[in-house]
Amino acid sequence: MTERSLTEYREARCRDIEENIKEIRDRIAEAAIRSGRNPEDVRLMAVTKTVEPYFINHAIHCGIDLIGENRVQEFLGKKPELDLDGVDCHLIGHLQTNKVRQIVGEVSTIQSVDSLKVAKEISKQSVKNELVTKILLEVNVGEEESKSGMPYEAVEDLLPEIAALPGLSVEGFMAIPPICEDEVVLRGYFSKMNQLYVDMKVKNIDNININTLSMGMSADYVQAILEGSTMVRVGSNLFGARVY
Ligand SMILES: *Cc1c(COP(=O)(O)O)cnc(C)c1O
Repeated sequence: MTERSLTEYREARCRDIEENIKEIRDRIAEAAIRSGRNPEDVRLMAVTKTVEPYFINHAIHCGIDLIGENRVQEFLGKKPELDLDGVDCHLIGHLQTNKVRQIVGEVSTIQSVDSLKVAKEISKQSVKNELVTKILLEVNVGEEESKSGMPYEAVEDLLPEIAALPGLSVEGFMAIPPICEDEVVLRGYFSKMNQLYVDMKVKNIDNININTLSMGMSADYVQAILEGSTMVRVGSNLFGARVY
């Protein structure tokens, strides 16, 4: 690209990002109200995988205060270039035990905790660094073999065990339902997650602070909010289609 067209491309993409954020916030507000809540009760996360720091920073300048990255290496590589003042960073992609050491202390929250093993490692590294890492338990709500996440039925037993680990604060759940065309089926998955969220919230488990139900992406965040999501993770609708 010539310098001129690069500038034009960047400006056009920045305008799109700004427009997209406004539109998404409007749709979130509308869905929140339809579900009997306030617009502020649903947080918008900008999912930044594959997006260059320049555009992530633009989204931040447009008011984004929560970002999510999938890969430890990609996030740590981009982090020095990001304007993260007042921005909350979460890891949302599958986390291998051997990467835990690198990510603890670099994000406030790890949303993709799907086993006791990985929770124990996060606990160990957090204690070592004298900090508390917030975590969400990722639930494989559609029981898909190809997806990470713990089985829905396992949550009730695992939750107290994980909550008892030092250096962790269990804040809620994250889920990615199966891709499905049928709106009723889709909302059924979200509703099942909301049931878990509500049930676990009222249970008297020591050392948990359940306040987040992270569900809904570009294609389905409205449906997720209608079923109780408190945090939607939006990537392509916000930044444009991903180029790998
Ligand atoms: C990529 C990703 C998203 C965002 O996906 P879009 O469909 O682009 O909005 C949300 N959550 C997770 C865990 C992701 O990996």
